[in-house]
Amino acid sequence: MASEETTPHYDLVVIGCGAAGLSAAVSHTAAAKAKGREARVAVLERATKENRGGATRWTSSWFRIREDRGLDGNFIDTMKTVSNGMADLDYCETLSRESAETLGFLEANGVELIFFKQPFPNRNDGGGLGMPARGGVGIVDGLAEVVDRTPGIEILYETEALRLSVSADGRVDGVITRGRDGLMKRLVAPAVVIACGGFEGNKEMLTQYLGNRACDLPLVAPTLTHNRGEGLRMALEVGADTAGQFDMFHGEPMDVRSSKPDAVVYGYPYGILVNGEAKRFFDEGKNSFDSTFEELSYEIWRNQNQKAFFIGDQTTLGIEHWTDINLTDQPMIEADTLAALAEKLGLDPAALEATVAEYNAAIGPGTFNPKIFDGRQAKGLAVPKSNWAFPLERAPFIAYPLTCAITFTFGGIRTNSLGQVVNPAGIPIPGLYAAGEVTGLYYHYYPAGTSVLRAATFGRIAGAHAAGALKPSA
Ligand SMILES: Cc1cc2nc3c(=O)[nH]c(=O)nc-3n(C[C@H](O)[C@H](O)[C@H](O)COP(=O)(O)OP(=O)(O)OC[C@H]3O[C@@H](n4cnc5c(N)ncnc54)[C@H](O)[C@@H]3O)c2cc1C
Repeated sequence: MASEETTPHYDLVVIGCGAAGLSAAVSHTAAAKAKGREARVAVLERATKENRGGATRWTSSWFRIREDRGLDGNFIDTMKTVSNGMADLDYCETLSRESAETLGFLEANGVELIFFKQPFPNRNDGGGLGMPARGGVGIVDGLAEVVDRTPGIEILYETEALRLSVSADGRVDGVITRGRDGLMKRLVAPAVVIACGGFEGNKEMLTQYLGNRACDLPLVAPTLTHNRGEGLRMALEVGADTAGQFDMFHGEPMDVRSSKPDAVVYGYPYGILVNGEAKRFFDEGKNSFDSTFEELSYEIWRNQNQKAFFIGDQTTLGIEHWTDINLTDQPMIEADTLAALAEKLGLDPAALEATVAEYNAAIGPGTFNPKIFDGRQAKGLAVPKSNWAFPLERAPFIAYPLTCAITFTFGGIRTNSLGQVVNPAGIPIPGLYAAGEVTGLYYHYYPAGTSVLRAATFGRIAGAHAAGALKPSA
């Protein structure tokens, strides 16, 4: 390692170049500038410049936001209920309070945002959504551009953080890194923000926490391979507490044929889902797709041998905006009869015909309406359908083959509402912050559209708080 004289010194080292890390770096520099100081900040990125940005790079980045830019008003109650009271509600309240400010922060730093109402039923308060006009890559590029033109901050590409450096009295005082040359180097700083994502890119840690068949989970986007859990490990090494459910993850029902990032098929409530035996296994209409796609994905992985098929017909195809919610780049599989469709999918034709006939016969009265929870059910089946049941009878029939892909892990580091990493007693570890997916929050269920928002929000808060420790220039 370099001698003490050649060791680089910074005011802040940020590990990770996604929404959380870049927000921390930019807010830190702005807060220092407001105090009359030019902060020296290093952002570590394991990937090359072209592949920077982890999950943030590939997400559409839907925000669970009302039209007035406030976070979904049901968020805190939802978190309390689904987690059985385990979720940190102070953290959730901070997120709720600070979301609008975060959106302003992103816009002020060159990220164009758009706001709209979701065309399909959902459980968000008011049904509003927002997103960056270019998706998550707009956040990475926008904030990285600010970094590139701001004196004092640099992004160190192809440089991975290995562990934290800690002073004799337990204060975090830097990071041990490994760069392109393969050599280790210590970067010195009075504050470090860990923002290097979850452990979805690490099969060994996935197996440790999720259990058997974790190795069968494909990544929903390629750069998740860089998120290998070092952030969690290095925080645990210095006594950090954890939060979030370690044996759960956020998954998506992805077209198995596609290698496109985020090739999700959200249109499954408007038809049926069958497994490899051509049998239904999930109530496709139990709730809105944005409320059930995680549970569905987990079920496909855990109990259906990673194999499922969406089956629809011409009524499905006639639904306004239906094709827009299927993000795969692969064409639908079509056939004039259910038996021919089954042949194309590798399913038993007689079994698929029997499943569809039984389902069609179980559909009760009512009018199918995809724009509301229409209450039109298929009842008396081993697996009922609670909304949007209509007979599958209008050829050609259509299908998508699905598998579960992992998006992010739930378990991570515990922080307080300032982004400070805390020990099990809730005492902040001096000099150590964490933000984004590396921090744990969710239990049992992820209210979709809150992950990027919390990454940017707590990155912004942590960066600014760390700057509070800087001395104003003389
Ligand atoms: C396809 C897809 C769709 C999604 N859709 C949504 C959505 O619509 N709405 C939503 O809110 N969320 C969504 N998410 C989740 C959301 O994108 C992430 O939770 C969020 O972007 C995480 O941001 P982050 O900054 O914490 O981590 P990341 O963006 O993953 O950034 C982590 C960074 O750390 C780097 N890194 C990792 N380890 C090291 C190391 N040891 N040293 C140095 N660098 C390291 C990585 O290369 C990466 O640049 C989606 C995710 C994906 C993949």
